[in-house]
Amino acid sequence: MKISKKDALLWFEFFSMLPEDEELTAKQLEIVYSTFAQIEAAVDHRNDILMSEIKGLKTLENRTFFVGDESKFPKGCRSCLLGTGLSAVRKTNKCNIECKFCYNYGELDDIPPVGEGMWEIGGTKFYEKDIDLLLSIYQKPTGISYVYLEPFMEIEKYYPVIKKFSDANIHQHLYTNGLLATEESLKALGEAGLDEIRFNLAATNCSDKVIENIGKAKKYIKSVGIESPMTPEFFESFLKKKQAILETKPDFINCAELHLNENNIGNYYGENMYISRHGYISPVWSRELTLKFMKIADDEKWDLVVHDCSNYTKFARGLNLSSKEGKWFGASNYGCEFSKIPYEVFLPILRDESFKFLSEEELPDGYKHGQLVI
Ligand code: SF4
Repeated sequence: MKISKKDALLWFEFFSMLPEDEELTAKQLEIVYSTFAQIEAAVDHRNDILMSEIKGLKTLENRTFFVGDESKFPKGCRSCLLGTGLSAVRKTNKCNIECKFCYNYGELDDIPPVGEGMWEIGGTKFYEKDIDLLLSIYQKPTGISYVYLEPFMEIEKYYPVIKKFSDANIHQHLYTNGLLATEESLKALGEAGLDEIRFNLAATNCSDKVIENIGKAKKYIKSVGIESPMTPEFFESFLKKKQAILETKPDFINCAELHLNENNIGNYYGENMYISRHGYISPVWSRELTLKFMKIADDEKWDLVVHDCSNYTKFARGLNLSSKEGKWFGASNYGCEFSKIPYEVFLPILRDESFKFLSEEELPDGYKHGQLVI
């Protein structure tokens, strides 16, 4: 069923007004899924055109796209997409800033602590002294990453743990907004054996201080990159400061397709959104901007990798992880972040006259608005 945009809008206006607990009928769900497929096909089509314009576009075994010298492709991402997955280590439950795209937006002061002296690894609590036991029982992962809020709030706690995993030859990467990093702490991280650090440059809209810290990190840490959700603000501020940023010589830039959850979606109401494989909901501009960014990097031959960490990449990541965990054929942890589909967030794209479906058909009998209302 290739629903028309007009019919889809009529239906979605109706679905948005339904009470929270109202379940849709199977036929109404067909309407919903047809609308999602129509939007996604049009988004994919626009992205395919943008991709066809990037001469040096490459893939990592068809799991993700990038431009640039493959030897600079982040090993943390390689582990995530081809190795045993993204093994998450959590420690710090606080951040020094509040980004509108943060998955914890609105609850940043209320994130549960991991526990005094404890680390959460793969969902289990450990004391530092338990890491030897962990390593003696489990097969070593290809990589681990420190993923909870802002580690530089208490970075000295990380050094001994990083040292332990480094002695075990496990690739480690860490995310930061970079504001609190210093020459001393970056040096200590490098000495402890941290392999890769990723600066979320969008968090500060490319602040000069963070750009400077990227340069400092390059002196001590093997692989230094930028990883940010791609937003119009970041795209613009990056290009304004492009020269200063590239002069710090980052090895890679991961452009994450911004996806939204219940915490941060309110900050993006009114934007054109799509849902990818019934999973992540994203503003359509995010991947478009990534592809435009990659084209600039490729045309200008920046000496780094630009990686398109899209919803498709996250889908591939979920499949890879589950397959490595020995799960059943097709299992994946990729899915929707919402307990109920937020129909209203798709109204702007359905109302946008410049956004067109690729082809449309009349609704079959029995599916027309008015025939299905209970
Ligand atoms: S820097 Fe990271 S953890 Fe802190 S608010 Fe921004 S996105 Fe969230």
